[in-house]
Amino acid sequence: MSLSDTSTPNAESTTVSANSDASVPHTASNATAAPERHLQKTSTTAAAPHLSQSTTLQNDTDTHSQKLQLGYYVPKNVLVGYVMLVTVIIVMIALVTGFAVRSSCSPPTPHPAEGIIASNTSTSTRPDSAALRPRDIRLPLDIFPVHTKLEIRPILSPEFKFVGEVDITFICKNATRVLVLHAKDLAVNESAMGFNAEEGNPVPVLHNWADDPVRQFWKFTFKENLRVGVKYNVSLKFQGKLNDDLRGFYRSKYERDGTTSWIATTQFQPTDARRAFPCFDEPGMKSTFDITIVRPANMISISNMEIIRQDTRADNLVADVYNRTLPMSTYLLAFVVCEFSSKEKLADNGVKVRVWSRPDALNQAEFALDVACQMLVYFETYFGIPFPLTKLDLIAVPDFIAGAMENWGAVVFREVLMLYDNETSPASSKQLIAIVVAHEVAHQWFGNLVTPKWWDTLWLNEGFASFLEYQGVEFAFPSWHMAQQFVVDNLHVTFEPDALTTSHAISLPVYHPDEIGEIFDRISYGKGCSLIRMMRYFLGEETLKKGLKNYLTAFSYSNAEQDDLWRHLTEAGRQDGKYVDIKMVMDSWTLQMGYPVVTITQDHVNKLVKFYQQHFFLDNNATVEADSNDQGHSWHVPVSIITAADRSYDKPKQVWLSKENKTVNELLSSQNEWILANVRETGYYRVNYDERNWKLLITQLNTDRTKIDVINRAQIVDDALSLARAGYLEYGIALSTTEYLVGEQDFLPWVSCLKALEFVDAMMQNSEHYGLLKNYILRQLRPIYIILGWGDSLTEAHIQQLQRVEILHAACYFGHDNCVENAKQIYTRWMSNPEQHKISANLKSVVYCNAIRYGTSDEWDFAWEQYKKSSIAGEKRQFLTALTCSREPWILNRLLEWSLTSQHIRKQDGDLVMSLIAQNAVGRYLTWNFVRDRWSEIRLRYAGVIGGLSHLISGLTRSFNTAFELRELEAFIDDNRDSISIAQRALSQAVEKSKANISWRKRSMSQITRWLENVRK
Ligand SMILES: [Zn+2]
Repeated sequence: MSLSDTSTPNAESTTVSANSDASVPHTASNATAAPERHLQKTSTTAAAPHLSQSTTLQNDTDTHSQKLQLGYYVPKNVLVGYVMLVTVIIVMIALVTGFAVRSSCSPPTPHPAEGIIASNTSTSTRPDSAALRPRDIRLPLDIFPVHTKLEIRPILSPEFKFVGEVDITFICKNATRVLVLHAKDLAVNESAMGFNAEEGNPVPVLHNWADDPVRQFWKFTFKENLRVGVKYNVSLKFQGKLNDDLRGFYRSKYERDGTTSWIATTQFQPTDARRAFPCFDEPGMKSTFDITIVRPANMISISNMEIIRQDTRADNLVADVYNRTLPMSTYLLAFVVCEFSSKEKLADNGVKVRVWSRPDALNQAEFALDVACQMLVYFETYFGIPFPLTKLDLIAVPDFIAGAMENWGAVVFREVLMLYDNETSPASSKQLIAIVVAHEVAHQWFGNLVTPKWWDTLWLNEGFASFLEYQGVEFAFPSWHMAQQFVVDNLHVTFEPDALTTSHAISLPVYHPDEIGEIFDRISYGKGCSLIRMMRYFLGEETLKKGLKNYLTAFSYSNAEQDDLWRHLTEAGRQDGKYVDIKMVMDSWTLQMGYPVVTITQDHVNKLVKFYQQHFFLDNNATVEADSNDQGHSWHVPVSIITAADRSYDKPKQVWLSKENKTVNELLSSQNEWILANVRETGYYRVNYDERNWKLLITQLNTDRTKIDVINRAQIVDDALSLARAGYLEYGIALSTTEYLVGEQDFLPWVSCLKALEFVDAMMQNSEHYGLLKNYILRQLRPIYIILGWGDSLTEAHIQQLQRVEILHAACYFGHDNCVENAKQIYTRWMSNPEQHKISANLKSVVYCNAIRYGTSDEWDFAWEQYKKSSIAGEKRQFLTALTCSREPWILNRLLEWSLTSQHIRKQDGDLVMSLIAQNAVGRYLTWNFVRDRWSEIRLRYAGVIGGLSHLISGLTRSFNTAFELRELEAFIDDNRDSISIAQRALSQAVEKSKANISWRKRSMSQITRWLENVRK
């Protein structure tokens, strides 16, 4: 899945950063770059971690020990509240649905991962409504699905419901009397339940059945045990509400010629197929599916496979009967019923690719169609495995909560991430659409063909898709420099959240749907793809591909865990003469949170270079308790190095720091020259140096920056400012790395620097010294502002188009007179006659935002009218974003109110509006008050919306830096302890960041001020 743009690491995060629609120039306060240097050839290189016989077993051991606890362990204090809550919920649901609730008897075989009610295992600050989350929510392992026959019929306006029949064939693996299916918010027809057995076996007789809404189960208990190895059938008739929650089977709509057209569509990942039909809703429970969708004759339907037959039914209905699917997980199913139009093309591998959208928008789907065709062929070649389906549909749905969803053969997109209009869409949209399409196509193999056994390895899915999306787009559009952009889009933005003590290991146990929802975060996506990129460099591209191909082949139509991949990669390495124990190396990165800072110091007397690793924290005074795993906060780090005298960027020297040896000494062959480590920032770590080396690097940047690779220039600035932020480096040195930018013309270092400075900007905004910072940045921006100017053209180099927008956003944001004046003039001209004075697509976001920021309610009202009028998703998004740039409190308050009503702002966009207003200096406290005041409403509206609330919380609180603000935040958590489950991690992180910001103010404000006062004018 691609996350929605407010929330996503990759595909989506780029929405916010690359298109710069955000009201503040690079609003994410998360950048960090790693400094590099060149090293000399030295001899005593630490060897790569070798294959060792003793592979780690402790995780397995944990799992097994849990398995041994039969029954469920419930801490007493938790139990009381928990039972009360469960009872209330059960009674409520029973009242609503009329279900009879009966208890079942003998407990089924628990899943190895279940058996405990959440105890608070985290360190300190975690606000905990988690204690109320049951963890025994996994399906028992006695029964597995084999084949599912499903017929479903959505009934649109005005009933908004669906009815269906499901017939599931399952096999009994362990004798049991209990069949457990997932179902949520569905009503079953009790008189139509049917059970059957393979010929020659007794038909199971139902003893009782029970609805368990807390675990989202339907439990059927039979009078006798089912027989091992025998196949049985359960058939059920059910119905549910075609909701507007944007998950499960839900409704969406759009206007056409003054009338409303309705859509019934699905979003199942991760745990919402159970809202559409009773099923084994776990990724490891694969089955084949025969899907039949019954729809009105004037509509069409789309699902994963091709239609093989259409039957006419009574009441002007048609049943579309779909070809049988390959074995697949429920979360990858899709059903769409709508009045869309389509366009199709044959990809070079013979697969039929179609794009579907509202008829009025179909002309905007051409670009996505082309990219999808290219990506299908690219990934087929990359993996060396043919695409296993005969068609691929791409569907643009007006209301969609994620960015896009990789349903096998039927990918669903948010409109703005699939529809590209040549005239109105900026270059950043084009890039984003290409990225998202590539991401979803990569999933067709990585995720769909081979699927994680459980959500704890979600990161493998998302990490690979996020890594491959850049590979794919780099291949299709080499001039876009995606390999370079990867560093600021993924690596830098992940470094910040992963430097918190409240971060989490990328591979972590998850149980409850809320916990599963929480891990669709920057860590799973951004860290996932960054770790894979690191592996690619120490293993080599060809070896990585070979290992992947073997892994995908071995587990096709089945499920796997990360250890399975490590085994195949280790073996591929061995075949290629690279003896690296991938499991040993990667466990140190995936089983513990965070990452190291590698500090490099030179001993010139003894000609030694010392490398030392330590856990990097956003506040260097932070500590964490020992992890439950024994990775010990150290890593197997592939440190690559070059020196001023030997700048072998393509073949840098490599030194391995191991988990056990945190310090390594290398011989230095020459002196008085800089060393640069983490060459092209391929590793997931930061680098710090002794003061002398920092100064040598700064001198190099100031004298001839081209001797340092563009990625490393971006890295140096980001690492230095982040190290200073955390207290590892003096701000004087860190800020000196930005001085050279006055002559920098490349895109990457500028983006990196502006992002890294966002934090300083946010911290200083209300200080009396803010003017110094503003003037310094404006001075640095002046030359590049003149070079790029306002002469935008859609025909110039893509990267230059992106860069211009970034620079103009920054210049206007910091109040550059000419920039603000231009934005206002262009807007005024356009207001006078929008048809005649069109604004270039790339410049719209800058012009709209700044004309509104520095304008009056007239400018705002005009943009609001245009927003309501527009039917182009991307254009609507630009207006909506710009509307949050206002500095009028009453206007912002009104917009906040509107963000909670769907009349003009779609639910999918409401959290974006709130997040953006929160990033506006004037809007921050308005939003904070609004969110506190309306929390129950907001929570209900966005409960279950992946990433929505978490992003809102982190946007809201990112500049909290006083004891007063921290107290307010803690009071909010205390007051809402029972209702913050879905945003729990975001809130803990907000508390931690606020504390870090408070100590930052004490430590750094005077350092920065001093430097800014003295920097040469
Ligand atoms: Zn994905």
